[in-house]
Amino acid sequence: MAYKISEDCIGCGACAAECPVGAISEADGKYAIDASACLDCGACAGTCPVGAPQAE
Ligand code: SF4
Ligand code: SF4
Repeated sequence: MAYKISEDCIGCGACAAECPVGAISEADGKYAIDASACLDCGACAGTCPVGAPQAE
C-alpha cells in the first residue's frame, strides 16, 4: 500500500513538507510519491487543501 497524488494536485508543496520520510518529490511543478518509500501514514492527505493524495 502507498498513497498516490491525483490530477487534482495544485502544486502547493504542503504534502512534501509534511512527509516524514521525504517520499514526495516535485518535477516540473508536478508532485509525486515514491511508493517504495511511502509508509502509508496519511500525513500528506491530511495536509492537502484539495485532497489529492489518495490511498491506493
Ligand atoms: Fe509520506 Fe505518509 Fe504521504 Fe506516504 S502517506 S507519502 S509516508 S506523508
Ligand atoms: Fe498537490 Fe496537495 Fe501536495 Fe499541495 S498538498 S502539492 S495540492 S498533493
